Amino acid sequence: MVRTKQDDAFEKNVARTILASMQTPAVGEAGNTGEWRTMRPILHNDLCIVVKSGKPTCHLCWMYCPEITVSREIPPVFNYTYCKGCGICATECPTKAIEMVPEKEAPSCEGNEGGEF
Ligand code: SF4
Ligand code: SF4
Repeated sequence: MVRTKQDDAFEKNVARTILASMQTPAVGEAGNTGEWRTMRPILHNDLCIVVKSGKPTCHLCWMYCPEITVSREIPPVFNYTYCKGCGICATECPTKAIEMVPEKEAPSCEGNEGGEF
């Protein structure tokens, strides 16, 4: 049987869905791990593909975040309670819509907030 691009896309979407359902951020022995963060991701809505299109067409930030602390919403939302500031989301974003800023210089905001600040 010949594999098609549609087969690959379908399997990728299934894998994403399973991953998201298995890896929901939760308080573990380490507690509020976001407190360790020295750099904070912020989103520039004007550069984000899903914001501009209004469709969930990208969300690579959601897919690559090792902590699953980026939501699959429009716009993507960072969960600052658990985000460790690794910067992988910013690295993988194809349009550089995510900027990593020093935590001390970041705009004041509580956990579970995101979008344009
Ligand atoms: S990877 Fe970048 S462009 Fe894609 S949804 Fe995330 S922030 Fe938007
Ligand atoms: S900085 Fe790291 S932990 Fe935080 S949202 Fe981006 S990829 Fe996830």
